[in-house]
Amino acid sequence: MRTAITNIGAVLSGDWRDPFLDADTVVTADGLIESLGADNLDSCDVVIDAGGATVAPGLIDSHVHVAFGDFTPRQNTIGYLESYLHGGTTTVLSAGEVHIPGRPQDVAGVKALAVAAHKCFENFRPGGMRVHAGSLLLEPGLEPDDFAAVRADGVWLTKAGFGAVDSAKDYVELVAMAKEAGLVTTLHTGGCSIPGTFPVTGEDVLDINPDISFHINGGPVAIEDRYYDMIAQTQMGMQVCAAGNLRTGILAAEAAHRHDAFDRLLIGTDTPTGSGIMPLGMLYTIIHMAAVSDLDVTDLIGAATGNVAQLFGLNNGLIAPGRDADLIVIDAPLGGTKHTALDAMKNGDMVAVGAVITDGVPRFVGRSRNTPPTTRQVQVARSSVLREF
Ligand SMILES: [Zn+2]
Repeated sequence: MRTAITNIGAVLSGDWRDPFLDADTVVTADGLIESLGADNLDSCDVVIDAGGATVAPGLIDSHVHVAFGDFTPRQNTIGYLESYLHGGTTTVLSAGEVHIPGRPQDVAGVKALAVAAHKCFENFRPGGMRVHAGSLLLEPGLEPDDFAAVRADGVWLTKAGFGAVDSAKDYVELVAMAKEAGLVTTLHTGGCSIPGTFPVTGEDVLDINPDISFHINGGPVAIEDRYYDMIAQTQMGMQVCAAGNLRTGILAAEAAHRHDAFDRLLIGTDTPTGSGIMPLGMLYTIIHMAAVSDLDVTDLIGAATGNVAQLFGLNNGLIAPGRDADLIVIDAPLGGTKHTALDAMKNGDMVAVGAVITDGVPRFVGRSRNTPPTTRQVQVARSSVLREF
């Protein structure tokens, strides 16, 4: 399938260092971005007229507690992932299937859970969303052979922070073994999220040294302020989450800038949790952080797209030929005081999502179920596909 978006007012690259592309058209073919230019429009199956709105890479939420299917037992909600897609999130990464009722804590159980979740979501795309599931929950008793076995079955994510370990220090060895096996290691950071867990302090984060400090701004309770500069000077990814502390999220982003570590800043939601289902969580986090600080909206969009792709080795998150065709059309919300998507976001307003395309396929065009309507009209200009968008 070939899809084009034409008449684009601004194209955001997803790269915070070089955020604007000089183009007004994006053409996709067979799930990949083919070109930035208006050649070959005649051979497109679908042409979307953006009406002068802004196009950005789809947002990548690097912290979602998926279970199986488009259902979360944590808030007994169905269809939430498809709802997130209407908030501009086109990819989610599992932060561990911790909400499965009766979640096993033994070695065989956590391995089986990660492999099953990984394989199920390889065949299932809620609303068209990409879901990278199966994050091995680190538990005492896991040995190097276990990590190698799940890796061989396709699992590439691990999560430390919910296990039956005695203290956070027990994760030092488990994280080292997981890294050795080639898994991306992620660590709960900050106070307890729910009764029955234990806090992970800034000192613990430095000792455990995961690839990524998850919800570094607290999930939902933050570490001491002084650790943000210290962690920014390591090689760790620093993930700021919607379900955390806004003030320390901004501290983390500012520390990342100070230490030339902004490439490693990520935005996620850490939902569904006690904080609930947040279809607009990615957008709210970008907007809230930008509106009450000196941070640029384009930097924060980069932290929700290109940076995530880079850190996790994904082929989306950037608009460039050969990248996965996961795109969103955003605009100033109807009735607002600002005239572009970026100005509206800096103003603190929720932005309008006018269309979402994943894998080169339009998932909806015209209006999101969850955001305000666009100011400009985003519409299907031509389609030869027997489907409505
Ligand atoms: Zn979480």
